[in-house]
Formats: sequence, C-alpha cells, structure tokens
Amino acid sequence: MARRLRMLKRRRAFHLRRVMLAAGLWMKLRKRRRCAPRQNPSSPLHATRKADAMDDVEDVMEGAPSDDEIEQLPRGPVRSRRPPSRVVKATAEGKPFDEGEVQCGPKPRKIVLLRSVFEGRPPVVLFSYTQACCAEQRPMDRAVPADEDGPRMFYSHTDAVHQYNAVINILRHGGLYRVRAETNRWTVMWSLHPTPEQLRRFTPVQRANHFPGSFHLGRKDLIWRNLAKMQQRFGKEYQISPQGYILPKAFLAWDAARLRQPEALWIWKPCSQSCGRGITVFSSDVPEDQLRELSKKRGIVQRYIPNPLLIGGRKFDMRVYVVVVSYDPLKVYVNDEGLVRFATEPYSDSVDTLQSRMMHLTNYSVNKQSPAFVQNLDGQGAEDKEDAAIDEAGQPKASKWSLTELKIHFEREGLNFGAMWESMKDLVIKTLISVEEPLKAEWCKTLGCEDGGWSARGPGGAQRSSCYEIYGFDILVDETLKPWLLEVNICPSLSSGSPLDKRIKTKLVADVLTLVGVHPPTALWQLSPDSVHWPVTGSLPIMDENEAASGCLLSEEEMAKRARRIVPWHGGQVQASCESPADALSLFDDIAWELCVVAHEEDMRSGGLMRAFPCPHAARYAHYWDEESYCNIVLRKWQEAGGGAIFRSKKLPPWVPRQVCFNKT
Ligand code: ADP
Repeated sequence: MARRLRMLKRRRAFHLRRVMLAAGLWMKLRKRRRCAPRQNPSSPLHATRKADAMDDVEDVMEGAPSDDEIEQLPRGPVRSRRPPSRVVKATAEGKPFDEGEVQCGPKPRKIVLLRSVFEGRPPVVLFSYTQACCAEQRPMDRAVPADEDGPRMFYSHTDAVHQYNAVINILRHGGLYRVRAETNRWTVMWSLHPTPEQLRRFTPVQRANHFPGSFHLGRKDLIWRNLAKMQQRFGKEYQISPQGYILPKAFLAWDAARLRQPEALWIWKPCSQSCGRGITVFSSDVPEDQLRELSKKRGIVQRYIPNPLLIGGRKFDMRVYVVVVSYDPLKVYVNDEGLVRFATEPYSDSVDTLQSRMMHLTNYSVNKQSPAFVQNLDGQGAEDKEDAAIDEAGQPKASKWSLTELKIHFEREGLNFGAMWESMKDLVIKTLISVEEPLKAEWCKTLGCEDGGWSARGPGGAQRSSCYEIYGFDILVDETLKPWLLEVNICPSLSSGSPLDKRIKTKLVADVLTLVGVHPPTALWQLSPDSVHWPVTGSLPIMDENEAASGCLLSEEEMAKRARRIVPWHGGQVQASCESPADALSLFDDIAWELCVVAHEEDMRSGGLMRAFPCPHAARYAHYWDEESYCNIVLRKWQEAGGGAIFRSKKLPPWVPRQVCFNKT
C-alpha cells in the first residue's frame, strides 16, 4: 500500500513537472513571438521583413512606459488619460510601483494637436521628433496640447511586421497607447496589408500603413511587368528602369537579346528576395550549364548598368523615401533626406571582377560584412560637418551617406544635383502611375466591390485615404547623371543601426504620421475649443473629425460627370491643356475645393516631406492614365492655377474656408 502511494506521488510530481516545464516553455515562446515578426516564407514580403529584423539590433527603445499592460485594461467608455492617483504618488516619491497596480508608466502620454491653417477645420495629431533622434524639431507654433482629461488615443502594431523602434517611439511620443488590432479602438495601424475583413471594419478616421496589393510595386517581376506595359505604349519616355526579362517565361527573348549584345553585362535576381540575396552578375558569354539553369529558375534578369557614377572610385545607390498619401488623387511626397549606400571595394567593369559582390552590389547587408565598412556617425565628432564626407584621398569616409552629404559632394564637383533630383522625381511619378491600375483593382477586390474604382467604400467607412504607404525607392545614378530605378521596397527597413539611420528614419515616421492626418476625437479639445480653432469669420460650420476624414463621397459616374464640367473631353479622353487653369477654377464646386483644401493642409504640415505630385507641370503626366480621374484633374488645375497661393485670394467662393495661418510646420 505504502509502495503504491509512493508511486502515485512520484507519478503526480512527474506530471506536475512536465506541465510546469510546458508552461514555462510556452511563456518563453509567447514572449519571443511578441518581439519577433511572424514570417511566412511564401509571402512576397518575407524577405524584406527578414532583412529589417537583421538591421535593427543596435537600436535602443526609448521611454519607460510599456504598452503591454495597456492592452490588458478592460474595455469601457472613454477613460481619463490621467493615471490612477496611486501611480502618480508612487512615482513622485520615487518609489517602485506596487505589485498588481495598473502601471500606465511613470508619466501619462501627452497628445499634441496641430491646428489647421484654415478656419473651422479640425486639428490633427502632431507627431514631434524624439529628442534622442537628434533631428531638428519642426516649428511648433501651431501646436496645442490636447485636453488632459480627454479620451486616450490608440495604435495597433501587429506581430506580422518587424517592430521598429523608430515607429514605436514616435507613436508613444505622439501620446498614443497600444491595443490589439481586434479591439478596433485604434486610430493608427502599423501592420502588413489590411485584409478584406480588417478593411471592411475600418472607420473613416482609421489609418493603415499599406494599400492592399502593393506587392504589384514591391515584387521585382510585377513592377517590371507594369513598367514594361508603359514602355510599350510610351516608348523612350518610360525607360526608367534597366531592360528586364522575367524568367523562365521570357528566357528565349532574353537569350536572343544576349546574342544580339555580346558586350552587355546582366544581373539575375530572385523576384521576392532582398538584401542582395541570390543575385549574380555575368556577361553575355554564359556557359551552357548556367544557361540551362537560367532557363528553369524563377527570377528576373536585367541589363546591368556598367557605367555607374562613382565617388572615390566606388559605386553607390540612393535609398529615396517616397510617401503615397492616396492613389486617387495621386498625392506623392518625397523625403528631403535619404541614404546613399557605397560598395566597399573600388569599382571595375572588367568581366573578371563580376563575382565580387562588395564591388557590384551596394546593399548595406552585403557591405557591412567587409572590414572596409565604416559606420556613419552623422557628423558627431567631425569639426566641420561639410568636410565629414570625404577624406584626403577623395574616398568617402563612411560607407553610408545622407542625401545632404551627396548633394554637397555634387556641388563641390560641379555636378547638377537639382537636375538629377528632378529626373528622380519624374521616375517616381511614372513608377507610381504604372501601378495605379492594379492597385485600384486590388482595392475594389478587397472591399468586394468589383466596379467601384477608388470610390469603393467599406461598410464601416474605409475610403480612398484610409491607407498610405512609405516606399523605399532604390535608385542608381549613371555617369550621365540619369537615375535608374532598381527596385521599390514596400516595407523599407526603418532600423536605427547608426546615428544617421536613427535621425533620418525616426523623423520620417513622425513626418509621415503628421502628414497623413490622424484625426483626434472632438472630446480631446472640446474643453478648450478656442485653442484649436481660429476665430471663425465666415458662415461655414465647424467640421468634426469624421467629416474631415471622410473625403470625397461621390460615385465614379458622378465624378466623371463633374470632370467633364471642368475640362472638355474628346473621344473619351480628357484634353490636358484646352482650358485655362483660372477658367477651370471658376468651375470648381464644393467637392473640388474640399480636395484642394485637404491637399493644401497636408502641404502645410509635411515637415521634411516635399510634394512631388501633383506639381505645377502635372499636365505632362495626364496622358499616362487611360482616363485622368476627376480628383486628379481638380488637383492638377489647382496646381496650374498657383496651388496654395490661391488661398490668399479674397475672391474665393463662399464654400471655401479662409486660410488664416501661413506658417508651414
Ligand atoms: P535586393 O532587393 O536584393 O537589394 P536590388 O535590385 O536592390 O536587389 O539589387 C541589389 C544591388 O545590386 C543594388 O543595390 C545595386 O547596387 C545592384 N544592382 C541591381 N540591379 C542593377 C543593375 N541593373 N545594374 C547595376 N547594378 C545593379
């Protein structure tokens, strides 16, 4: 009996140990999963995320408060943003928090609002720069603190993407708390592409950082397919990316091109990889066994650009950050700062060197492994910032530069940076126009509204400006200063591995979130409405956040009708220049003016992001669309007529709000 009892006890202890072991392991796994991005190897984004995770190791999370406990708080009506009094007392006395206490962090997060430049229009949340990123703060004269007793605002950052400190720090610094996506209480979502279920639940004020289907831009084969279509229609003016062939389908066409051009060099890339993985460079003289392999392997083979512009004998490429606020109207901003990435070995176009990845590939992930790689300390320690980039031998001192450093170098060498930059913007606009059609189709498909165009709306209020996207354009400049598009990253790395990366990327995230316009609930300023509204002189009613965020509610047919009123159509085609801009403005209705007001508000809070489209010469691009949309026509005409300057005119129709502040933030 005693023996049986002993055995039973031993068995129970054994089971208990197993259960505890499993629980411990599960907790560890859970913790790890929270920190690491979930990766699906078949996803086109897989490679980008893998790269991002690798680059972020040296970054430090700022600000003590953790978001996780906020997620655990019970749902309920609007809560005060003040932390429980016990917490305040404990912090004030410098004592540790009690166990079991709701820890909202040592300080409550503060939301700062940015007044509109127009009267009667609601503010947006201002995302200022963290001190640690060392970026010069933007002008804060339109900034107003939100009511401390107002409701909290939330963001959702899912595990599907890498958690960049630049993103998390800016969201926290902006005063937002984290919740799970399923709660739907968030205003800002940072994740992968929204699923149909998610998008259908979006309210008008919710903003997500991806458009459905932007892999049409991010996959090397798909973007080439879209650009090739445009090249076929428009010829030389669309030669913005090196000639490509999608293998194995276009193997015969490439083989013929290779035989026609025996002197050419080629580069083969897998379609959905990044960081230089799997890339090979070779001449037209390909051995039989390699040809056989190429005829079966999935990837893209491209003309290799043999004459890149060199600095100190080294090849480099540019990472340019581009933000699309919406595709219809097409609103594109280019960040004034970006990265220049150098190869670590001096360049040669001799076929004997083609195996050298550190000579021919400029990826950070390839070159950081070289002993010659030098981190950029962002001018820290340099006596004269202007001299920080080049050493006495004319070599770049660091393996990464900022675009500002490149600009200074161009000016010193007598190279025309301005002209190169304009061609680069032209390349960006053409690339984005080439993918607009497939993205529109994805938008409709995701919302289950096949013919709705960009006017398709979700049942919860999702609309054309619910999504925005940050793209990393990789651009190579050749020795004639022509920029060539190499690829577009739809999840560009936002890692802060060096002081330079930290400054540029943290500022970029803050500027993007302020630009796209996160609308706070009215309750955040209802205690002090005068602080966010200029004294109203006109007869216009004050708009609430839902009205401001809802955008243009017209159907596609209605918009086509209105477009015809502004510019005459001939044979179904809008004629780009048959109406004077001033005449067109006189035909603008309230919806048209609303589009211009929103675009101007964005310009006035764009920080370091510079508008690339619509631009005063937008008419040059009108014929690239099968049919230029109403929204695009309106903004083009507004730009041609003078853009933001026309809001200074006293003769505007009564439904146009008065611009009362002229300071850009
Ligand atoms: P990945 O997504 O793997 O980074 P990229 O297309 O950006 O692939 O190419 C990696 C690097 O190879 C680029 O940074 C550039 O230095 C070089 N490269 C790519 N395409 C070309 C090309 N057509 N001509 C010259 N160099 C190229």
